[in-house]
Amino acid sequence: MKGKDKFKQYLKNRNLKFTPERKDILEAVFSLNSHFDIEQLQQKLKKMNKKISRATVYRTLPLLIESNLIKETLHCQSRVKYERIYGHLPHDHMVCLRCGKIIEFRNEEIEKLQMDTCRDKGFFPVEHRLGIKGYCKECAEKLKLDINSKKVYSKK
Ligand SMILES: [Zn+2]
Ligand SMILES: [Zn+2]
Repeated sequence: MKGKDKFKQYLKNRNLKFTPERKDILEAVFSLNSHFDIEQLQQKLKKMNKKISRATVYRTLPLLIESNLIKETLHCQSRVKYERIYGHLPHDHMVCLRCGKIIEFRNEEIEKLQMDTCRDKGFFPVEHRLGIKGYCKECAEKLKLDINSKKVYSKK
């Protein structure tokens, strides 16, 4: 696992140890689906029969973020969601406000538009975050919401 080497290297550079707890947390993160919150990470660790305190998990996440293995993606139902970025193409998210479903999408036109907009401003982009909140297809149907009746925001 290359992600593991990356994390080890990062820890080494800061004179931190690759402790068994850090190793377990890293493994749990890599075995989870791309998006997770602390709760899900802890459940995963429990399933792996690893007893790791919440405090340790909380202290380890920033290290994983700083070593560019994961990032905070979005806030969903008042929980922070993290996701693996290592080995994952950049993409955007739609989050359902009702059931919490997260839909990933990647749209080349949006990517290109963002690059063009940055270029116009002479801005060198490092990261962007696009999140669309709303209702997934199933929830929209239940709530009788119709995308076609939604107006596009525009300046008058
Ligand atoms: Zn939904
Ligand atoms: Zn994602």
